[in-house]
Amino acid sequence: MRIVVVGGGIAGLAAAARVRALADEAGARPEIVVIEQANVVGGKLRTGCIAGGPVELGAEAFLTGAGGTPDAWGEGSASQLARRVGLSEALRHPSTARAAIAVGGQLRPVPAGTLVGVPADVSALDGLARPSADGDHDGGRPLVEPGADVAVGQLVRARYGHEVVDRLVDPMLGGVYAGSADELSLAATMPALYARAQTARTLRDAVAAALADGAARRVPGQPIFTTVEGGLSRLVEGVVSLARATVRTGLPVRELGRAGDRWRLTVGATRDPEYLDADAVVLAVPAKPAARLLETVAPKAADALGGLDYASIALVSLALPAGTPLPDLSGFLVPADQGYAVKAATFFSTKWAHLRRPDGTVLVRASLGRYGDTAVLQATDEDLVALVREELADLVGHTLPEPVDTLVARWGGALPQYAPGHLDRVASAREALPVGLALAGAAVDGVGIPVCVTSGEAAAEQVWADLAESRP
Ligand SMILES: Cc1cc2nc3c(=O)[nH]c(=O)nc-3n(C[C@H](O)[C@H](O)[C@H](O)COP(=O)(O)OP(=O)(O)OC[C@H]3O[C@@H](n4cnc5c(N)ncnc54)[C@H](O)[C@@H]3O)c2cc1C
Repeated sequence: MRIVVVGGGIAGLAAAARVRALADEAGARPEIVVIEQANVVGGKLRTGCIAGGPVELGAEAFLTGAGGTPDAWGEGSASQLARRVGLSEALRHPSTARAAIAVGGQLRPVPAGTLVGVPADVSALDGLARPSADGDHDGGRPLVEPGADVAVGQLVRARYGHEVVDRLVDPMLGGVYAGSADELSLAATMPALYARAQTARTLRDAVAAALADGAARRVPGQPIFTTVEGGLSRLVEGVVSLARATVRTGLPVRELGRAGDRWRLTVGATRDPEYLDADAVVLAVPAKPAARLLETVAPKAADALGGLDYASIALVSLALPAGTPLPDLSGFLVPADQGYAVKAATFFSTKWAHLRRPDGTVLVRASLGRYGDTAVLQATDEDLVALVREELADLVGHTLPEPVDTLVARWGGALPQYAPGHLDRVASAREALPVGLALAGAAVDGVGIPVCVTSGEAAAEQVWADLAESRP
């Protein structure tokens, strides 16, 4: 029996590991093959090297409590996976330094008591944004009709006014999705708020309830975020070993078809294709390749997924000489209307104690590129580094010395832009899938690492159940 996972990002690898666990439980020994078009597995999880030490080129950390069913320690799926691969001792948590928002040339702390920038109490914004006077009235109806979806911006603008969206929600949501609050689905990007918005009649009540829901789930004293000392590529390597899978890199899957009652994958170069047959397939790739592969075997699913668009971004890491002063912050976000290309910066050496270098080198990473605005990404690496230095200097209020090392990571098609109705489209795509085929990953279930892990694991469980039925 052969099970193929297409896409070696964290979702695909989690799927492979889960299939292996299920097979072990059943005393079965299927061949599990992960096919990845890039030369390395890990997808958006990739650790690089700057000034002689590790730095994340993609994702930086993950939520401890999110994804799947929390274990006895309240830990979600990504933390559980990290422990399963033996990384418990390597998990690190961020410092207590706060994040800021750059408004009017000043770095102002992100107000407490907000949910991705949406405040429960608009009077506590400390002048960062002026809320509209009376938009959040109780009109006797829920904020969102049950089952309906809206853009985050549409809801928050109507209730709190434009400044709250432009100065708080948009940069916070943009920090995760590199997209605009006016285009991103409330149900897909803020599920906790969405759940409450279907019954609450004011936004302040919905946010307060969603914040309380989150607090109730949290185990006291448990940090919210975690990462792996040495880099998230260690998690990737650990999951590969756990899966005991055949991993084939540098090999795109081009077509998916049927061969009798099995699947047939066409892989490799168009001129010299290779065919690989499988009893079940998990597709853990972004939406466009997923839709292409589904075209003949599940055209309705292909249609439902194919319209999902992505934002491209670049991350510029700077290693600055020891003693470079920076504000005592974990980093900052820059609203789109403030006239900067940099949309966020993370002061790695302040935020993560384990990233402080013995020689005092200071690590900073800036992110550029917003959905629909990719002009800045056309610049050369050298020009991006120069631009980041110039804008960071402006924002922190002093010039920055020549970096001792720099690293530019470009992510084309990095972050899915879930438009309102995304969850319904995913549900109809899944309904249209034939038996023995499952979807996983950020194209369908959400961008966070824990969500991608859970998504991969659920896809594995589904194809395993399909196989148990069709090949008892
Ligand atoms: C710069 C950046 C920073 C982020 N930071 C965080 C963070 O700090 N915390 C967090 O929780 N999340 C973060 N995210 C989001 C998170 O990292 C991703 O959503 C998640 O890793 C996606 O995992 P995935 O397996 O679904 O997809 P991917 O990682 O995209 O993996 C899909 C894989 O499929 C491969 N593939 C595509 N087409 C084919 C094909 N035809 N054949 C074979 N292989 C194919 C791709 O090469 C890729 O490796 C970040 C994302 C980015 C881009």
